[in-house]
Amino acid sequence: MGKYEFWFVVGSQFLYGDDVLKTVEARAKEMAAELSKALPYPLVYKVTAKTNQEISDVVKEANYRDECAGIVTWCHTFSPSKMWINGLASLQKPYCHLATQYNEAIPDEEIDMDFMNLNQAAHGDREHGFIAARLRMPRKVIAGYWKDEKIHKRLSDWMKAAVGVVVSKGMKVMRFGDNMREVAVTEGDKVEVQTKLGWQVNTWAVGDLVREMGEVTEAEIDALMAEYESKYDIATDDIAAIRYQAREEIAMKRMMDREGCKAFSNTFQDLYGMEQLPGLASQHLMAQGYGYGGEGDWKVSVMTAILKAMGENGNGASAFMEDYTYHLVKGQEYSLGAHMLEVCPSVAAGRPRIETHHLGIGMNEKDPARLVFEGKAGKAIVVSLVDMGGRLRLIVQDIEAVKPILPMPNLPVARVMWRAMPDLTTGVECWITAGGAHHTVLSYDVTAEQMRDWARMMDIEFVHIDKDTTPEKLEEELLVKDLVWKLK
Ligand code: MN
Repeated sequence: MGKYEFWFVVGSQFLYGDDVLKTVEARAKEMAAELSKALPYPLVYKVTAKTNQEISDVVKEANYRDECAGIVTWCHTFSPSKMWINGLASLQKPYCHLATQYNEAIPDEEIDMDFMNLNQAAHGDREHGFIAARLRMPRKVIAGYWKDEKIHKRLSDWMKAAVGVVVSKGMKVMRFGDNMREVAVTEGDKVEVQTKLGWQVNTWAVGDLVREMGEVTEAEIDALMAEYESKYDIATDDIAAIRYQAREEIAMKRMMDREGCKAFSNTFQDLYGMEQLPGLASQHLMAQGYGYGGEGDWKVSVMTAILKAMGENGNGASAFMEDYTYHLVKGQEYSLGAHMLEVCPSVAAGRPRIETHHLGIGMNEKDPARLVFEGKAGKAIVVSLVDMGGRLRLIVQDIEAVKPILPMPNLPVARVMWRAMPDLTTGVECWITAGGAHHTVLSYDVTAEQMRDWARMMDIEFVHIDKDTTPEKLEEELLVKDLVWKLK
């Protein structure tokens, strides 16, 4: 979490004299220091900008500095916006306009024209907002008193979304083999995602992984087994199967770390030379922040890594998920999500168990070890990135996860049960209408607003299905967006 910071750039001009500028600077420093205490990343005061040159210089530096994940601007006084054009036009980092005010109340007795000239964010921020609108800049606008907790929460959320942008732009994904044969939704234009989102999507042979597995030592496996035992209950006698998963995990992690990859995909159709599809191995890698997608789904893999990085403490409760089957009993309509093995334990309600079971799908010679658990209850979202041909569409649906209403003792995989918004069947209609995939990222700590912010910063289409969505309104929205994105 200490890796990134945000820069506080305050707008002003020379018109008000040195004393006002000194006051503005002192207050801006105080605000940055105080806000930093309430935010997940430091907000670093940079400059009280009064000229085109100062603004261009700070933007140039922000673009260049890897640790700068975005800029936050504010106009304590009036800052004529033509002098912001050159700087803003070259800005390559996420941008938030914090429309706030140093003082909370208007001081009844003390207010005079000096007070008015110092405290004029109400019109300074409008001038500042206009130029970003005129330049069609993707930006977040947050308005309110800077000491208000609600403002801290919204600025925190935006910062995490901005970190999601930085993470996306540096993302490398390791594909072990290709996508599952004939599947459409897991396909995508790799050149387009690299251009738009920064992702480097490349493939490595399963044979390379098998060779790497052969070089893992028994001592390395012993160390990882001790870690498994500290985190999970061992609920199988087949210790060899767990050790095999440890071998797979160590080899995959080594290959990813060597290449700087933070996400990976594989498919049960391409396991030549491996005894088990990685189950526990993939789950424990996800717990460490790596993204994963089954059946070669590299898009959902990278989205899992990004949502994890956007979540609490830089590795939140976000998991690769698949809509599996429905409970359609009236009054208890739920979707049951799982995967054949690989659900991230960050969404577990309790301590996961390591179990081994037969897996009929794929070329498994041995029963793969996997973590089995119930997902926790609570508000969440599911996220799907699809390639519409010529553009990417991000679909987000609000959901309410529940404690699974059935024990399902013979289900050999981790499971999460939820109700989609606005209700299960309408939600399904909307999701299918929008083209949402069966694979998603399910997240408890990233919000739809953050995903909207992320999509805006990445310049991709965003569709949100929430409690107020109707199939009719959605159909119209998709029609309009189809036109808009063809023109863009
Ligand atoms: Mn799947």
